[in-house]
This record gives sequence, structure tokens and C-alpha cells, in this order.
Amino acid sequence: CGVCGVFGHEEAANLTYLGLYALQHRGQEAAGVTSCDGTLFHTHRGMGRVADVFGAEDMDRLKGRHAIGHVRYSTSGASVERNAQPLVIDYQHGGLGMAHNGNLVNAAQLRQDLERQGSIFQTEMDTEVIIHLVARALGTSVEERLANALREVRGAYTLVALTESRLVGARDPLGFRPLVLGEIDGAYVLASETCALDLIGAELIRDIEPGEMVVITRDGVRSLFPFEPQPRRMCVFEYMYFARPDSTLDGINVYNARKAIGRELAREHPVEADVVVPVPDSGVAAAMGYAEESGLPLELGLIRNHYVGRTFIEPKQAIRHFGVKVKLNAVRDVLKGKRVILVDDSIVRGTTSAKIVGMVKAAGAEEVHMRISAPPTIGPCHYGIDTPDRDQLIAATHTQEQIRSSLGCETLAYLSLDGLYRGMGGRAPGYCDACFSDDYPVAPEGKVQQMSLL
Ligand code: 5GP
Ligand code: SF4
Ligand code: MG
Repeated sequence: CGVCGVFGHEEAANLTYLGLYALQHRGQEAAGVTSCDGTLFHTHRGMGRVADVFGAEDMDRLKGRHAIGHVRYSTSGASVERNAQPLVIDYQHGGLGMAHNGNLVNAAQLRQDLERQGSIFQTEMDTEVIIHLVARALGTSVEERLANALREVRGAYTLVALTESRLVGARDPLGFRPLVLGEIDGAYVLASETCALDLIGAELIRDIEPGEMVVITRDGVRSLFPFEPQPRRMCVFEYMYFARPDSTLDGINVYNARKAIGRELAREHPVEADVVVPVPDSGVAAAMGYAEESGLPLELGLIRNHYVGRTFIEPKQAIRHFGVKVKLNAVRDVLKGKRVILVDDSIVRGTTSAKIVGMVKAAGAEEVHMRISAPPTIGPCHYGIDTPDRDQLIAATHTQEQIRSSLGCETLAYLSLDGLYRGMGGRAPGYCDACFSDDYPVAPEGKVQQMSLL
């Protein structure tokens, strides 16, 4: 998911809406904006992309100088309108709106406890668990209540919360998901990625730190660190795949990181070939790095239809298979008779990759050498990225030779974890790489019920 918030601007809702446009890649299932005019909250939410959800009249209704917004996609939490965010409640301390990116590993347990004590839930989202905890929490301010609530949750969260008089942003102590602070016309902006600041013309002030809570009021920004400090574990996959290449997160530009990772891939796994071809769009920057390092020409041998969503966001398997052909086509004149190095960011189930290799071969390529700019994906993510269960991950259930043969390519090679971190400029300041290493920074509680993602 992606989150955005604006405090103290005439055009708060419009800016938030525009910010969501820039964050659309983080979720295309639902979108919503909640504004506040100092007394009343106004919300518009709907299923689909930002462009489909908001009309001119909806925007007119989102009055006030403060707003928060959200773009969402889910896995097991149903894809229905009641699961769209932001969530807004009216409780003993006034109004509270909230939008959340992440996944709580103990959400199911907390929800069960809350329901036993009489709480009634209206959605299937983790966000509502946080809301219930805040409503019951002790504290004299919303930030105190929010901090007390968040001390009970475990896992990944980046959230923005809005009251009548403040905008609060928080990043969990390990900092899995990004959050940045910006400024425009004297108003403050919070967003998942810097590309949202760029779109609205806001200036980046800084990243919100892992474990930090910022409280934005008319008097400015206050920073709190209400949690026990923990080693930073920003999701390395944000850099490799999820975030937009024009974003800079925790000081590292995503495009530069991907390109450097591609160079490492070329150093680790060179092969004699004629051209380097990226699988668009996720493989493009890494393929550029690979081509640069290997001295081979980069060619766009696969062209993407941009009017189809990312395959992995489509919720149904049947659509996924269909989606590959809708999404990509091979350029015969580029591929015919060539030995092709095909670069992509990851292999998850292996189904898409097999079709792409087939497509490249059908276009006349002599040889296909698959190069993956990540280590094998061997485990699911419990922290807000929609990877399937382990038994669906081809690298968890098959040897590399079996994968190569099922893809139908001549050679297959993955970047090592060390190579990945060389590309990232080192292991500091600290990342989560659990889906590649099996080193999970927060133990998934029993059988994790991923109720709401991103
Ligand atoms: P596969 O060959 O595993 O079916 O698909 C590989 C493609 O899925 C790659 O191009 C990659 O960009 C994309 N992908 C990346 N991350 C994820 C993810 O978390 N889940 C899924 N399902 N696909 C992903
Ligand atoms: Fe990111 Fe993978 Fe860690 Fe999930 S498990 S937070 S996708 S690195
Ligand atoms: Mg891809």
C-alpha cells in the first residue's frame, strides 16, 4: 500500500489525491482520501485506481486544510469496498482517520482478544485493529494513545493518522516500510515515497526514522521516539522491486540501487551473448547496469503494454496467466538469431518467467540466458509484500537446475546476497532480506493470517 498526508494547505485533499497518483504502483485495488476542516471529517473511498475512484464532485466534498490518503491491494483480506482506507472513527476524544501500510503479524490474535472484550469490527484490515487499540488506549494526547496502541502490535507498519488538529506519521521500530516528510507552501506532507513529493512540488525535508513518530500541528513538527530502539530492518525488496525508481528512500535512490545491483549481477554471472534485454518494467534498471558492466548492447526486446496492471497485483491465478500475453510482446527484429541475456528482478512462482522465455524463443532467439538481480525467493513476506506461501515459491521447492529447465532457458543465474549488498553499498544501515535469507526479523506468530497488506 501507499500512504500520503497533507497538513495545513488550502488544497489538502487535491494534493493528497495527486500524491496517491504517484504512489499508485504500491496498490491498485482501492483508494481513498479523508479530509478534515478542523471540525468535520470527509471521506471518499472506492475500488480501483485513483483515476477511477475520484471524480470532480468527490474532490469538491473533501473540504479542509488537512487530509490523508491511501492506495491499497490485498491478498487474503477480501477485495471489497469495506476494506478500503482511510478508516475514520468518532470516539470519546473526537475524530480519528487512519491509513496504514504494512502487515501486523499478531493482528489475528489482537483482533480475537478485542472481540472477546466486546469490540465489533467492520472490516478485515489490520488498520482497524490499531484503531480499536487507540480507542481503548490510555493517554492524554492522540500521540500518546497511538504510541500505547502501537506497543501492542508486532510487525510492519507505516501509518498516517489525522485528528481535528494534527497529522501524525509513524514508522515501526524496524522501519520495514518507508515514509518521508516534505514541505510545500509552508504546509507539511507525509508520503510513502519521495516520488509523491516530486509530483506535487513539495520539497523533501527528511525520511521519518524507524521507530519515529512525528506530530504535525499548527506549531510545526515534533518528533518522538516512543518505542524501544531496535536494529533497522528496512525492506531491501523496496529497492529491488517495489518502490518507484525515481524515489530516494533512506538516502538511497532506487534507480541507482537497481543499476548497481545489475552491475554486480554482470560481475558475478557473465555469459557470452549478443544482447542484454530487460523484462519490463521491473528488470530495466538492473539490465542497464548489466549491459554497462558487460559491455554488451542493451536492447528493448520486450515491449510492455502500460495499460495493464502489474501481474502480481491481480488477485486471481487465472488472470495472472492471461495477463502475461496481454502485458508483454517480443520484438522479433531485435531477438531473431541472437544470444539473449534476459534480466529480471525476481522469480516468484516461475509461471510468468517461463512464458517470457517462451516468447523470446518464439521470436527467434538462439539462446536465452536468464539473469535475476536478486537471490532466489525462498520465503514468504510477513511484513506487507504480497509474496505467495512457500509451497508456491519455485525456488523453495525446486533446485536451480529444475527451475532452469522449467523456464526453458539455456542458463539461469541469481545474484548472491553478498552481491546484492555490494550493489546496495553495504549491509548498513540494516535491511530485512527474509524472503531471500529466511532470517525473519519478527517471528511470524503461528500460522500467520495475513489480513491486510500494504
Ligand atoms: P514469475 O515468473 O515468478 O511468475 O513472475 C516473475 C515476475 O513477478 C517478475 O517480473 C517480478 O517482477 C514479479 N514479482 C516481483 N515481486 C513479486 C511478488 O512479490 N509477488 C509476485 N507474485 N510477483 C512478483
Ligand atoms: Fe521485504 Fe522480503 Fe523482508 Fe518482506 S521478507 S520485508 S519483501 S525483504
Ligand atoms: Mg516484473
